[in-house]
Amino acid sequence: MSAQEEHIEEKAEEQQEQQSFSTDVSRLLDIVANALYTNQDVFLRELVSNAADACDRLRYDSIASPDLIKDNPDFRICVYKDTTNRTITVVDNGVGMDKAELIENLGTIAKSGTAALTEKMKEAGDDTDKLKLIGQFGVGFYSSYMVAHKTQVVSRKAGSDDIWLWVSDGKTGFTIREANEAEAARLDGQRGTSITLDIKDEACEFLLDQKIESTVKEYSDHISVPIFLGAPAEVAKDKDATAINSASALWMRSKSDITEKDYNDFYTHISSNIDEPLMTSHWNVEGAIEFTSLLYIPTQKPWDLFDPGRKNIVKLYVRRIFITDDMDALMYPWLRFMRGVIDSEDLPLNISRETLQYNLTIEKIKNAVARRILGDLDKLSRNDPPAFSLFWGQFGSAIKEGLYDSPLHREGLLKICRFYSTHDDGEKFVTLEDYVSRMKEGQEEIYYISGDSLKSIKNSPQAEGFKAKGIEVLYLTDTIDDFWLQSILDYKGKTFKSITKGDIDFDKIAPKEDKKDDDKKEEETSEEQQKSTDALITKFQEILKGQVHNVRPSKRLTDSAVCLVAPDEGVDMHMEQVLKINQKYQASTKPVLEINVKHNLIKTLAASCENGDDVTDAAYLLFDQAKIIQGQSVDDLSAFARRMSDFMNKAI
Ligand code: ADP
Ligand code: MG
Repeated sequence: MSAQEEHIEEKAEEQQEQQSFSTDVSRLLDIVANALYTNQDVFLRELVSNAADACDRLRYDSIASPDLIKDNPDFRICVYKDTTNRTITVVDNGVGMDKAELIENLGTIAKSGTAALTEKMKEAGDDTDKLKLIGQFGVGFYSSYMVAHKTQVVSRKAGSDDIWLWVSDGKTGFTIREANEAEAARLDGQRGTSITLDIKDEACEFLLDQKIESTVKEYSDHISVPIFLGAPAEVAKDKDATAINSASALWMRSKSDITEKDYNDFYTHISSNIDEPLMTSHWNVEGAIEFTSLLYIPTQKPWDLFDPGRKNIVKLYVRRIFITDDMDALMYPWLRFMRGVIDSEDLPLNISRETLQYNLTIEKIKNAVARRILGDLDKLSRNDPPAFSLFWGQFGSAIKEGLYDSPLHREGLLKICRFYSTHDDGEKFVTLEDYVSRMKEGQEEIYYISGDSLKSIKNSPQAEGFKAKGIEVLYLTDTIDDFWLQSILDYKGKTFKSITKGDIDFDKIAPKEDKKDDDKKEEETSEEQQKSTDALITKFQEILKGQVHNVRPSKRLTDSAVCLVAPDEGVDMHMEQVLKINQKYQASTKPVLEINVKHNLIKTLAASCENGDDVTDAAYLLFDQAKIIQGQSVDDLSAFARRMSDFMNKAI
């Protein structure tokens, strides 16, 4: 090196900038650095995965600007060790990063996923919890600090001549400056990024070629860019250099050549999740539209499944070229938990991503994918019921959004929908088909009750009569249920009917086997009693006028004295609560108060009313009680308390 060159280099180093990591990065690094006892191999998987992404991105950009890859049209990744300096380097000739990108991408946590991880990290108790979280989210680039005490990133953005060096010990911050000649040489004159790790003593096994090769093979075989062992210059010289990995897009390989491990590794690569896929669906469509898709359902629900900002992240490829992982039009929102790739043979490459999303082919792919996934889920439900239950528990409420969103797939959706019901007392999921097969003679409707939780509706008074007669009632506990039920009126011609709304005609439905018992009870109500309860009801109606729609004898109660239901033409009880919470609804429907005329309390009250006693307090108490059971608030709490005390006083 001449004196002049040395001078230039010193000058470059003088111009270096020192910057601190954003606080969330520091926090994350703290944990990563101490994660030595977890699977260290992961860092190579993450760096190779980033290198492959960088190649994918440039391949796409070069469609519009072929000049970007004129220095070398062949993408490659090189991994090599330097035993003298005790380093490992991963080099790609992908998009590269300019100065601002280095700062933004490696110095802050820009990605919402990783940001969420650090949020959760704060809540996590001990270190094992934190490590589990790292596994769940993947920490990408920062995982290099599991094995390195210093990381140097040299990068040249495609289309630019500037080469930057980013260095950090992974503690407080990083420095950034223009790379000197020796550092720049790591890129071998091409665009892209080189990442050099100064390996910690505890991780020195990675300084062996065999270890590097076996690790890359194990985790990155599916990467479609060839990965070579050796520095770029050596690899370029060696005519016989062969890639360590298979270097073909996994989804294009024949199914019989793919092992479960290949599928799972690829899942880890594209999802950054550590769980195993709950369902893997790989298929190829030929005909009017042609595409291949390899899609996964995760085992674990993503943390942001119900975040309105959550986007579709299934990757779209066109003839093996990565286009985008941010096109909402590609997947139905109710499948937003799916991960994987869709590779189209028909879409044009030379139009922008923005225009592409309005392409009719995308719409066709979206529907074909939805149909296929619904079919596969239906199969899963038959072949592996425990796995399906797991799926439904995690994603059922998202899937049900499709019931009102996507009329086209209603049938397929209804087929896989599961519900709790009075059958098995809310212990097991039932299908609508099960329900229909168990319907009683003369039963025309599918009965349901909706509420906030299974616990809150399991003992609803409104269900008493149904249970007594052995008529099944579905328990619906997702907020979404009240909404899709507004748009789906029937299943196979059987209409859905809420048991907390309108009248129920039990007479049409065949009574339960032990009919004699019921008959006997029925006989117990004499004509006289009938008259006195009628009078009581009329009285109640007068007292509660303005607060209830009406008061009527109940057909659905067997054990409780009273319950509330919505009038036929009103909004259903739980729906009204949901609407109020969402502040979309003001007017409140006056409920119907139903009275169990066979209940002893009611009989006694009827008798005392006949004797001319005042039943005003009783009417209010019963009405308030019905509201409380319904989870509603009582209008006048002090009046309620006073009436209650009076009654207790009398009883004592
Ligand atoms: P992720 O890959 O999930 O986005 P990482 O922590 O692995 O998160 O990487 C952070 C970001 O740094 C990437 O999104 C990318 O923008 C950038 N990056 C990392 N490695 C490379 C690389 N080899 N080439 C270009 N950009 C890279
Ligand atoms: Mg990454």
